[in-house]
Amino acid sequence: MESISVFDMLKIGVGPSSSHTLGPWRAALRWIGELKEKNQFEDVVEISVDLYGSLSLTGKGHATDIALMLGLSGFDPVTFPIENIEKEIDFITSENKLKLNGELKVPFFPKQNIIFNRKFLEFHPNGMTFTATLKDGSKKSSSFYSIGGGFTVKEERKRKKIKMAKFALFPFPIEKGTELLAYCKAEGKSISEVVFENEKSLRSEAEINDGLKKIWDVMLDSMYVGAHTEGILPGGLNVTRRAFDMNKNLIGDNKYTNADEWIAAIRNTEVKFRQILKWVSCFALAVNEVNASLGRVVTAPTNGSAGVIPAVMMYYMVIENHDANFEDVRKFLLTSGEIGSIFKKGATISAAMGGCQAEIGVSSSMAAGALCELMGGTPEQCLMASEIAMEHHLGMTCDPIAGLVQIPCIERNAMGAIKAINACEMALDSDPSKAKVPLDKVIATMWETAKDMTSKYKETSEGGLAVQVNISDC
Ligand code: SF4
Repeated sequence: MESISVFDMLKIGVGPSSSHTLGPWRAALRWIGELKEKNQFEDVVEISVDLYGSLSLTGKGHATDIALMLGLSGFDPVTFPIENIEKEIDFITSENKLKLNGELKVPFFPKQNIIFNRKFLEFHPNGMTFTATLKDGSKKSSSFYSIGGGFTVKEERKRKKIKMAKFALFPFPIEKGTELLAYCKAEGKSISEVVFENEKSLRSEAEINDGLKKIWDVMLDSMYVGAHTEGILPGGLNVTRRAFDMNKNLIGDNKYTNADEWIAAIRNTEVKFRQILKWVSCFALAVNEVNASLGRVVTAPTNGSAGVIPAVMMYYMVIENHDANFEDVRKFLLTSGEIGSIFKKGATISAAMGGCQAEIGVSSSMAAGALCELMGGTPEQCLMASEIAMEHHLGMTCDPIAGLVQIPCIERNAMGAIKAINACEMALDSDPSKAKVPLDKVIATMWETAKDMTSKYKETSEGGLAVQVNISDC
């Protein structure tokens, strides 16, 4: 088994899609690394990228071409200032030149050099092949696969050995929910404590805490930015941003000037059931409106589902526990990351493999278990909460209209967050020893359902809402 860190499951990136934007971006950077390693980089005179399968079918709506150009230019998706995206892309498209890794100017005609092929590569539905022509006329190609959540792999899986060696270092190697529970029981630890011990075999305590703080800062920022930005989302569907008005109506006369003061202001508002529903929806919509406009979000476990986990954490902070602090955030992220990794090991977090159950379903499950720990649930109740959340997402298809991560994606985050909270509450009131469906069984069911689902419903925009509703209807 390979190691999957919390920082693999929760990654800072740029919207709108982890598999179609962040993955290709990172693949382009990996390819540059390969060229350098083989001492071919300096000899490159021409480049092109072939996209296959789902990457090709919904690549335009998911900004795959933009991500590739930014990756090929050598920019880091974690730190690249998103306000510069337009300028960089304008430069490439108007000059028909690209500065490979910021160093080497090569001719680049986006419409010709990024090729959208309809066929699927056998290894994975999200395939891409980078080709470089060298000075001597020879061509060097390398294929990558974007397997969901920003993860990229090569068919030969060269990094597999390293990841397996890292997994062997974990004091508590976990593949399944039952193993996680066994460690919690044997050690008398919570889920987040067990996960923290594993993370310590990869990095120092300070690095873990610092990394989690950075992740939460981006999550909070994406909620704040989304809730304070009005207008229409890009892409042609004319989707109106809704978080802005929701926030305005809910916050009333409470004043604030930054995200921390916003939290205090929300705590000051009167909340009944309707307001709670609206606040949670507002947080989730905000993140995914930022995501849909190529903004900075945390892939959790994907970009399309990036709003669920922040919305549920924020719910805990502003509704459940007004004294919540970073320690709670830490526990929440560690627990949710581990639950996500169990899904990745036992099923998939890629919509191209499993439909939306693999994105919103998994994020809801991650959030439910993590919230349950903060609410005082036992590890058994936490996994029960995760199971309940996924059980009621089983079979959910991926059918984004016009290939844009907007409809049904943005609203789906609100629904996933609400389901997570409900699943948590049900688990807290239940005796997990009487549960009929353990988490591992629901994960296995999700994977079988994924395999039975036709490719029309796996991020290809060839079925469902994507064919019932045309961009011209919008
Ligand atoms: S429908 Fe779900 S899985 Fe598909 S792009 Fe939207 S959020 Fe992602």
